[in-house]
Amino acid sequence: MKDPFLAAKQLLIEIEASGFEAYFVGGSVRDLLLEREISDVDIATSATPQEIKAIFPKTIDVGVEHGTIIVLFHGIPYEVTTFRSEAEYEAFRRPKEVKFIRSLEEDLQRRDFTMNAIAMDKEGQLIDPFQGKVAIENQTIQTVGKAKERFQEDALRMMRAVRFYSQLGFEIEASTREALITYAPLLEHISTERKLVEFEKLLAGENRIEALKMICITGLYQYLPNLTSRKDELAHVLTYDCSRLTIEEMWGLIIYQFSLDEKGRINFLKSWKLPMKRIKYIQHIVRWLYFRVDKKWTDETIYHAGKEAVLAVEKLFNTIHKITEGTKHVERLIDQYESLAIKNRSELQVTGTDLQTWFQRTPGPWIKETINQVEEAVINQKISNHKESIKEWLDKCKQS
Ligand code: ATP
Ligand code: MG
Repeated sequence: MKDPFLAAKQLLIEIEASGFEAYFVGGSVRDLLLEREISDVDIATSATPQEIKAIFPKTIDVGVEHGTIIVLFHGIPYEVTTFRSEAEYEAFRRPKEVKFIRSLEEDLQRRDFTMNAIAMDKEGQLIDPFQGKVAIENQTIQTVGKAKERFQEDALRMMRAVRFYSQLGFEIEASTREALITYAPLLEHISTERKLVEFEKLLAGENRIEALKMICITGLYQYLPNLTSRKDELAHVLTYDCSRLTIEEMWGLIIYQFSLDEKGRINFLKSWKLPMKRIKYIQHIVRWLYFRVDKKWTDETIYHAGKEAVLAVEKLFNTIHKITEGTKHVERLIDQYESLAIKNRSELQVTGTDLQTWFQRTPGPWIKETINQVEEAVINQKISNHKESIKEWLDKCKQS
């Protein structure tokens, strides 16, 4: 058994010792069979959250009403979820309340795709009533049961299908694919937050371009925030080789393609409920991408953009212009950045107090203006970043 499972094996043993069943389930078992890196090991059990709490001293309530509790076991957090069925769905969404059950098979039955409905016991034996292993071998994404029913129960599963398509490069089985087209409008009932999680996993997947195509072909894009009328622009993104881009850069490329103004870009990203900090960063790189379209970097622009954004913008610039450039150009830019006199305004060897003392003036907007001038002069190497040369230069400026 592989490492993350070995570490968790004792946890299963302890649950079983208290008279309950416990198995590894979901993504970790799938990724084990796929020989992919295993992120988190999730556990399904016949014990209720209360019963789990009675076994382990350290637990964190995260969604007890859904049967999920985190057990801190030898310092590692594990999501332990009670076997449950989701018999009654609420208007095409996952249910608010679930029914705890004692049967593993019923629990596996409520899962989305056959590849995600495999359990593994502590000895590494698979419990695979829906032939998930065969689906993995055949590289197929197929719902547990009829796709049209499963998508009507919880429409988010359609987004999950395309995000797995992006991550794994598997085919989507014919009836599952057909159901994507038929039931795409049901995505309207799903919260943006849930759509965002899956869409970002899609953007990060290796097969992202094919997956975005799938979103266009199936019509899913029409039910995603602000993408409804953007099929053509989205289709343009699909002509690029985006394999080296990060998620933020993917967002950047998408909104660049939409030719929005600053406000429009912010509104687009806000409509996806991205956190403000990330919106600001994406906005920053797109702004500099517009600069880069017809200009070259200078010390001053490299300084104001910052190293991370310069590299992101270069990647995007090359992507858009389909340039497969070696690393030399980027190395030169990094060198240029590294040899800047300062990287940050706080490194300037002059303060507002210095200026007040030197010029015997009361504080006012002139301080900020002067600091800006000094900053520019230092970056452009007109003066060195030392108090004396700054003062000397300012005196000279005043005289002229
Ligand atoms: P990842 O590696 O990205 O975490 P995952 O398969 O573990 O992939 P999760 O979102 O963590 O995906 O969900 C864990 C498991 O819960 C899934 O493998 C699946 O069995 C089940 N599941 C998650 N969401 C749904 C859903 N909307 N409908 C049915 N089952 C679901
Ligand atoms: Mg998971």
